[in-house]
Amino acid sequence: MRLIFLGPPGAGKGTQAKLLTEKYGIPQLSTGDMLRAAVAAGTDVGKRAKAVMDAGQLVSDAIVNEIVSDRIDSADCAKGFILDGYPRTVPQAEALDRILAGKSLALDAVIELKVDEVALVKRMENRVAETVAAGGTVRSDDNPEAFKRRLAEYREKTAPLSSYYASTGKLQTVDGMANVGTVTAEIAGILENA
Ligand code: AMP
Repeated sequence: MRLIFLGPPGAGKGTQAKLLTEKYGIPQLSTGDMLRAAVAAGTDVGKRAKAVMDAGQLVSDAIVNEIVSDRIDSADCAKGFILDGYPRTVPQAEALDRILAGKSLALDAVIELKVDEVALVKRMENRVAETVAAGGTVRSDDNPEAFKRRLAEYREKTAPLSSYYASTGKLQTVDGMANVGTVTAEIAGILENA
């Protein structure tokens, strides 16, 4: 099962991807997590990406295309994977098509979580409050200013991916404002028919 989750930051892509990971035994490939790991490890990629990420902007297509292409070759991706936060631009989606074709792989479904942007800002504030209450560290791009920039980046660069994937017949849209269990059940129904 090879899936893509689309949706603005805070839409619940990561939460749903994690649940599916357990159900299907396939990994969640979050480019945001991979980039944060690179920043924490102080690699070249991490050094180049940090300032861009903190500003809520997008890291270059070349960097993310390469990390995804390499990651897909890992043994744990043999049964499939869930892409979360990638592709984020039409050129990334085109690159992914080429990457998958080069490995003789195909996508099974693209699931878009539709959400209300005002509610998203509230969700982001809750996520920060919960993390702080649990004694955790807040992401350096989880502040209202960077979050609004990430939303603007989404609207401008990532939202066009809906029509890109609609034209392939693989796009499925789910109401991301419903509670987590309802969203999960709806996605499970889609995947049974994929
Ligand atoms: P995320 O955890 O998916 O919200 O990603 C956090 C940040 O990592 C984003 O705001 C971008 O700066 C960067 N990032 C993650 N995925 C991508 C991608 N596919 N293309 C470009 N930048 C990305």
